[in-house]
Parts: sequence; structure tokens; C-alpha cells
Amino acid sequence: MATPDHIPHTLGIVGAGAMGRGVAQIAVLAGLQVLLYDNNPDASAHARATLGATFDKLVAKGRLAETDAHAALARLTPCVSLKALAPCDVVIEAIIEKLDLKCALLQQLEGIVRPDCLLASNTSSLSITALAAACALPQRVAGMHFFNPVPLMKVVEVIDGLRTEPATVDTLMQLARSFGHTPVRAKDMPGFLVNHAGRGMNTEGLRIAGEGVASFAEIDRIMREQAGFKLGPFELLDLTALDVSHPVMESIYHQFYEEARFRPSPITAVRLAGGLLGRKSGVGFYQYGEDGHQVQPPEPLAPFTLPARVWISRAQPAAHDLVRDLVRSLGGTLDEGEHPSADALIVVTPFGLDATSAAVGEHLDPARTVALDALLPFGHGRRRTVMTNPATTHPSRDAAHALFAADGTPVTVIRDSAGFVAQRVIATIVNIGCDIAQQRIATPQDIDLAVTLGLGYPMGPLALGDSVGPAQILLILRNLQALSGDPRYRPSPWLMRRAQLGLSLTTDET
Ligand code: NAD
Repeated sequence: MATPDHIPHTLGIVGAGAMGRGVAQIAVLAGLQVLLYDNNPDASAHARATLGATFDKLVAKGRLAETDAHAALARLTPCVSLKALAPCDVVIEAIIEKLDLKCALLQQLEGIVRPDCLLASNTSSLSITALAAACALPQRVAGMHFFNPVPLMKVVEVIDGLRTEPATVDTLMQLARSFGHTPVRAKDMPGFLVNHAGRGMNTEGLRIAGEGVASFAEIDRIMREQAGFKLGPFELLDLTALDVSHPVMESIYHQFYEEARFRPSPITAVRLAGGLLGRKSGVGFYQYGEDGHQVQPPEPLAPFTLPARVWISRAQPAAHDLVRDLVRSLGGTLDEGEHPSADALIVVTPFGLDATSAAVGEHLDPARTVALDALLPFGHGRRRTVMTNPATTHPSRDAAHALFAADGTPVTVIRDSAGFVAQRVIATIVNIGCDIAQQRIATPQDIDLAVTLGLGYPMGPLALGDSVGPAQILLILRNLQALSGDPRYRPSPWLMRRAQLGLSLTTDET
């Protein structure tokens, strides 16, 4: 069996599709000899030609020396028979995502390669343990999950099956590093790390839309421009396409035996049935122009009439002070009495509660009450979210919109929702990340690394929870759970304990 200091020299790749070609590209550039086989007789030679064209482009752009490109391409050998993979140190399979076909392939490979050759699967959704169980030597079988496009997505999940020998995974981690990629080590659980952690944003975005709180575009704008994500949930779903992402949502939900945290939404089921797949079908949650550009629905203009005065709830003292400073900076007149005066706009700052519960709980006039999301720091240009309740009058809503947009910062006004939009999505992402840590699927460091590199989030879920404050996330989730009665929001024990102890969410327990 290969040892960690044994760096593989000859790599076999089975499957010359999008993933197999990508792995071949980074492997030959890293200096490995690559033997590429596909059961479609033309696919391997076609993959080599495609790779040659890619290298030509890189040379033309000055990102690869011509001699290096020729040498790298010379290291790629298309094979017409699986038997040609006999000299390999490692074989990575990237064939079609079917358990029986992958098991049959691994069994065939075991009859061809040396006993010390490692066998890795690029599967996104199948159990590594189940694949290894088909093999005579399951200890040499592991997951090596690359992301698309492989040369640009610099993270690889290396997955231990239950019978995988640790040295197998150590060698594959080292192989990934030799490609210039960052390996993260994960246990064999549904969705591994990245697809598991990615459940939070999409499913919570869909729940918010499903409750009629805000439109798809409004939710995306809040997640981008207030919470700082590159893409909101609906832009992301349009990019991955619903024929890919809806089945993944269903599969992970069922593999975790109907875990409420991963519950999919009928919204995507109906849209999938209707062919509104996303970018690739020209219509998804957004419309796309001929040239592929996304059509953004227009935003309502901010009204001009400011409130006569503004009274801010003291239920959350730190948030009160932040909103008071913001209102001052916006030129608003503060009403600093113990109770709101008769003409004051009332601003509450709940965490995980809706505006209705905050107004009723604090004995405030709901007609004049709006809520402002104070979870994240306010800043010029950083979108603000105002939330009404069903009794809020139009003049109160418009006065709040005018006030919080007075410095030209965009404001989204949403309908009542326990936890606004950003609070709900952030708390869900953090909670799922904490539960991945609780299940010891990966180390806290690898969870954050995998999510930043694999999902492109500005921070990993644990660092995100730390930046907001674990106690604040816990408060949001407890209120969300109490108001909705939905076990989806039950806090992970990992989060509860660290929040109560005042520890970072990256703290492991020795
Ligand atoms: P693909 O359809 O582009 O390519 C699969 C290739 O495998 C095809 O060329 C096909 O001819 C070949 N093939 C099928 N059965 C074979 C067999 N028995 N022996 C040899 N060759 C065979 O698929 P892909 O997108 O490259 O995905 C491959 C694997 O990687 C799947 O397991 C998939 O779940 C996983 N994956 C895909 C992505 C992605 O975004 N595409 C990301 C991560 C992981």
C-alpha cells in the first residue's frame, strides 16, 4: 500500500468527461504521467485534443511556457483499453454517477492494477464505503471529490470510507497538494462537506420566499449587499440549474432521513417541472437576455418624507445604540423618551423575532412600528433591511424607507418574518456548519476552508458565527424555533455549548 511519503508518479483516470479532463489537466501540469481511459472510444483522444487547445490558450495569454505546455501534453496518454492502466500508482474514477457501474469498474480495476495501487472515486453523492464494499481491498479505496471546473476550484474533499486505511487518504491528500489544490478531509456522510454545508443558504432562501416575505431578487440583494455574499441563493440556483440542484436537495434530505434542516421546497419542484431551470434554459428565478445577461427587476425608489421623530426600542441595548448613531448620522430627529411620543416612528431591532412579536411584546403601537435588521454593522452603501408588520401603515413604512435610505444607501423593505432575511440565512448556515463539526465529519479548520474555497462564501460557517457572535446566533435560532415550531431551527449542541461558554465556534473538544 502507498505510504504518505510515496508520491504517485503514474495516475490513471477513468472517464474523460468534464471532471476527468479537468483532473488530467492539473495532473499533467504537476508532472504526473496520466493514462486516460473512457469507454466511449473517441472520448480520451478528444479530451487530449481539448487539453491541447486549452494549453495553447494559456500559452497565448502568457500563463504557461510553450515548452511546459508541450511537455505536459506529452505526459497524457489516451488509452483504448482499461488494461492499459496496469502500471498506475493511483486511479481516479470520474465516470457516470451510478453506484452499480462504479462498483463494477472498481472490481474490474482490481483485476488489472497492482495491490498497492490506490483507487479513488470522484463521486459527489455516493457512499465511499458502499463503493469500497464491492472491492477485495476496501482499505485502498477513498473519495477524491474535485469541483467543477477542476483547474479553478482549488479544493478537493478527500473522503475516508469506513474501511479505508488512513495511509490511503494521507497519500491522496499529498497528491492533491502536488496539484496545487487544497485538500480537506471528510468522513463518508451524505454531501460530504461542501454539499452538506451548502444546504443552508438555498433551503432557507426558498423558505423565506415561500413565506411571501420578499421576492427572489430582493432576497438575493440582501444576501449580496447586506450579508456580503458573492451570490444570493436564487442566482446560485440559476447558475447550477434546477435539474442538478433540486435532485441534490432531495437526495441529501432523504439520505439524512428527512432531517428538517435540509428540507427542500415545492418552489423548486414546480419550477423544475415547468422547465424554468436557470441560466441554461434562459429562464429561471431571473430572465436572461440573448447574450446571457441577467435581467434585474427594478427596485422601488426611496420616498423622501422623513419621519417627524424616531423612537428606538431599548430591548436590545447594543442594537439600540447602533441604530441611534445611524439615525443621527442620517439627520433624523431622535425621540429619547422612555415611551414613544404620539407622532414618532417606532423602530424595533429584534433577533429571530418578527416585527409583530417585538411590537406586541414591548407594548408598542404596531401601526407605527417597523423593524430594522441590526445583526451586521451599518455602513454607507451596505444595504439595510426594514421589516413591516401587518398593521404598519403605509406612511410609517415609507417614512422608515426614506430615513434609512437618506444617505443614498439601498434599503429593502420586506414583509414580516421572524429573523428578517440575513439573520435567518446566516443563522442557518452557521448552525449547519456547527452540526458538521459536532458530527466530527471534518475538523473546524477544514469545514471553514472547504466552504470558503468550495462555495466561495466570504467566511466559513464557524468564522461567520464567530464574527456575528455565537450567542447572537443562538438567540436568533431559539426565537426562530419558538415562533415557527420548526425543528429545522433547533440549535446544534456544538453551537449551544460554545455560545454558553463564550468560546469560539472553532474550539474543538479534546
Ligand atoms: P460526464 O458525463 O461529463 O463524463 C463521464 C464520462 O465517463 C463520459 O465521457 C462517459 O463516456 C464515461 N463513462 C461512463 N461510464 C463509463 C465506464 N463504465 N467506463 C469508462 N468510462 C465511462 O460526467 P462528469 O460531469 O465528468 O462527472 C463524472 C463524475 O464526477 C460523476 O461521478 C459526478 O458525480 C462527479 N462530479 C461531477 C461534477 C460536475 O460538476 N460535473 C462535480 C463533482 C463531481
